[in-house]
Amino acid sequence: MLKINWLDEVKKRSEQIVIETQEFLRIDSVLDESTVSESRPFGEGIATALEHLLTKGEKHNFFVKNIDGFAGVIEYGQGAESVGVLCHIDVVPAGDGWISPPFSAEVRNNQIYARGAIDNKGPTIAAFWALAIVKELQLPIHKRVRMIIGTDEESNWRCVDHYFKHEEMPTMGFAPDADFPIIHAEKGIMDVTFNWKERKDPTVSAIKVERFDAGERFNMVPGRAKVVIKGHRQQLDEIEVEYQSYLLEHQHNGQAEFKDHCLILSYDGISAHGSTPENGLNAGVYLAQFLLKFSFQQSANEFVQLINQYCDFTGEALQIAVSDDVSGALSMNAGLLQFKAGGEAKIGLNIRYPVTASGEACLSRLRQLAEEWNTDFEVQDHMEPNYVEKDHPLIQTLQGVYRRQTGEDPTLLAIGGGTYARSLTTGVAFGPMFPGREDVAHKKDEYIDIDDLLKMTALYAEAIYELAKG
Ligand SMILES: [Zn+2]
Repeated sequence: MLKINWLDEVKKRSEQIVIETQEFLRIDSVLDESTVSESRPFGEGIATALEHLLTKGEKHNFFVKNIDGFAGVIEYGQGAESVGVLCHIDVVPAGDGWISPPFSAEVRNNQIYARGAIDNKGPTIAAFWALAIVKELQLPIHKRVRMIIGTDEESNWRCVDHYFKHEEMPTMGFAPDADFPIIHAEKGIMDVTFNWKERKDPTVSAIKVERFDAGERFNMVPGRAKVVIKGHRQQLDEIEVEYQSYLLEHQHNGQAEFKDHCLILSYDGISAHGSTPENGLNAGVYLAQFLLKFSFQQSANEFVQLINQYCDFTGEALQIAVSDDVSGALSMNAGLLQFKAGGEAKIGLNIRYPVTASGEACLSRLRQLAEEWNTDFEVQDHMEPNYVEKDHPLIQTLQGVYRRQTGEDPTLLAIGGGTYARSLTTGVAFGPMFPGREDVAHKKDEYIDIDDLLKMTALYAEAIYELAKG
């Protein structure tokens, strides 16, 4: 049996790997609409980075292909089946406040600092060198290993959409764009809206809701909410007094002000990611709860009641709650809550359902509710769950590699978020963040630790070999 010390093989090439990582990080590959052309659909920076990588592939005598500027292929080996390694070379904008310029790739404390260092250009070079090492060692493999280089992961995934329209789906594969050890389950994610348009409201009320606004995005817990109430000053004064005691009772912050015969109440919640609504404090839900005891025009009352009755974290009240052993319970975030007097209203939900649950069952229940409530219903976005069972050869192989090289338990992770691995039919996220590391993706002073870079290269090299040899 072949005995290879993968980390030694990587270390023999470490100088080259670090230099090439720095070179690659010095290309500013942020989406740039202003330099888009037919062959460069995401602008010049991304195109330059893609061409840079493909040229490197040619130098190593890999088969390379540029898929209309949307994606790239770097392939090695023969065989009917293929192993995919899905990376992306686009990065989010650098932002301000960096210690060293974000595209200088300066090394400090054995760390390379640059936008894209960990997400995902550093790991892309790691995967590239992993493949190069398998080739240089002339190991026998019986499947093609295909690096798929995406260019639009940070925006709209148009790269993988285009790629899989024109190119084959690998038999199985991994994406080094999230966490080690292995993420094998990602919940289904849907954004849905219940909309009212121009609902007739003939009721006369002494106080009236003019506007209600909470949240900007489906996948964020609204950190702030605001309501504008119109009425006689005396009634508004009474509401204001009650509001202050409501805030006090909940120990939350908020403001009240009078403007143009209206009372404007704002509520300070705590924003959080939509996959963990329980970690936030939904300002819209709390504000709606306060409004429940007053009588406004009928359409406003209905809006307030629906929020109070149905906007929980679990989907229990909507009767869509479900859970499984692999990925846990369905979660729900009421990310958008909007109402305009005489105009329209919207309740927007971000729902994440377990990997073995049915998205269709959930949707049909929601459609039924929309009918009962007499609202429109729209599915704004829907990503099916991603799930590879624990006894699948892909999982078994990656777990073996991880255990051998790190000596650690290759725990399988299930998450509510979405990773790039979702684009593969049979694919998981495998790294690049080692357990316990600070998550610096999308932040200022993003870096990759050089020891981690070499460790992941060794893991990817053995993983590629083990998956492709059979
Ligand atoms: Zn990424």
